[in-house]
Amino acid sequence: MMKSMRNSDDMAHERREMVEQLRLYGISNPRVLDAFMTVRRHLFLEEPRRPFAYNDCAWPIGYGQTISQPYTVAYMTTLLVERVPSGKVLEIGTGSGYQAAILDALGYQVFTIERIPGLYDMAGKALDSMGIQVTRRCGDGTLGREEEAPFDGIIVTAAAPHEPRSLMGQLADSGVMIVPLGDLGSQQMTVIRRRGSRFEHEVFHSFAFVPLCGREGWSDNYG
Ligand code: SAH
Repeated sequence: MMKSMRNSDDMAHERREMVEQLRLYGISNPRVLDAFMTVRRHLFLEEPRRPFAYNDCAWPIGYGQTISQPYTVAYMTTLLVERVPSGKVLEIGTGSGYQAAILDALGYQVFTIERIPGLYDMAGKALDSMGIQVTRRCGDGTLGREEEAPFDGIIVTAAAPHEPRSLMGQLADSGVMIVPLGDLGSQQMTVIRRRGSRFEHEVFHSFAFVPLCGREGWSDNYG
């Protein structure tokens, strides 16, 4: 009885279906798919939404923010893993903490910054309850974390109006930043790779993220 209750609470069946769906959508990197099978996404949502955690949707997490949809997280993570297989990664926009947990499951040393104190606390509780150890800060992530730089990877999980220059300066040589760049309605997923003092760009598909605020993002009223 206990065992079967635990199994159904774990939602492994739903998680496996999500992973199969990601595979159908073209996510093929085995390390990425393994991480999606490992991390219990439902525990990053509030109780009423947990039954729907494995639908390929973005869900509200409070404060006008969302947990990104699994496909989007998998897409960005694949761009990172294919270029930078290991090392130190900085995430801007902790939100629910799910993307940070995926990066942790992939073996990266993870740093993450969230600007909204309520979300910073909620993500902390979720990550702690699962024993996931990432270094978290509350503040303006567009300024990065100079004291921990350089980073092998930087992943920006909110829409940036232009290249965040401070963050680019915190990339290691050959390090990559994954960032959705564009206006408030739609952004193009962009990979910026540092080569010495130069930066190479690759542009991918369009997505729709919540705004990146802060000094090098949109102003608080999105102007
Ligand atoms: N990676 C998250 C997605 C959250 S949505 C997840 O897996 O759930 C984007 C998040 O970026 C929001 O929580 C928002 O508050 C945060 N954000 C926006 N601008 C920011 C900034 N300048 N610094 C840190 N976090 C920021």
